[in-house]
Amino acid sequence: MTKFKKISKRIALVLLIVIPISALAHFIIFPQQTRSILISYSGFNKDGRLYFNNNTPQNKVDTVNQLIELAANRVAGFWGQKTCNPKYIYCESEEDFKKYGSPYSVPALTHIKLGAYIVISNEGIDLDIIAHEIAHAEFYERLGFYNWSFKIPSWFDEGLAMQNDNRDYYSEDTLKARSNNYKNLPDIKKLKSGKQFNEEGTHEQIMLNFMTARLEVKNWYTKEKLDKLIKDINAGKSFDEAFGK
Ligand SMILES: [Zn+2]
Repeated sequence: MTKFKKISKRIALVLLIVIPISALAHFIIFPQQTRSILISYSGFNKDGRLYFNNNTPQNKVDTVNQLIELAANRVAGFWGQKTCNPKYIYCESEEDFKKYGSPYSVPALTHIKLGAYIVISNEGIDLDIIAHEIAHAEFYERLGFYNWSFKIPSWFDEGLAMQNDNRDYYSEDTLKARSNNYKNLPDIKKLKSGKQFNEEGTHEQIMLNFMTARLEVKNWYTKEKLDKLIKDINAGKSFDEAFGK
């Protein structure tokens, strides 16, 4: 056997062992994410890019598909054009949402890994909620996995997604009333990880994080600034360098 053949054989053997072990480890650490990535191999039905359990009523499937289209148009309007093409998983039952979405009670969420997977629960059948999730997928699409995952602070990612999310209970009027006329705002720029932003604090505090992030990004945003921020980050700058202190 030539040296080259020997090395190739060894590499193949290592891969044969490493790939299944890593896949299993990924499943154990991120079960919902892994199942979503493998959704095309599940027993779910498919209509366009939407996957759903085969006992989902057809009118629900149609409604979700219509909302996805409207939401995608809204996101395209904000960004100039929509470049992302996520897969959508609708979970009619709580049980399915726990399997594909999250064990926590959130209406919808986006898994970002090997593409974007938007998982929508029964409570997530809402134009604002779906537009919010597509906005996350669009930002990820423009930055790539590494930059989106490791460079973007959670407050900015959520604040940006909130620009496409007009839910009343996150409005500026609500924020004004709940923060004593903007005097008691959370220091959101310190909330860099998803855990800090989404999980630490009471439900009320977390809602304030979303409203404040939304206002912060709104006051900063112009299309030119957002395009430049993405360009700078893709060219290797850190978020702080690109955003400016
Ligand atoms: Zn979000």
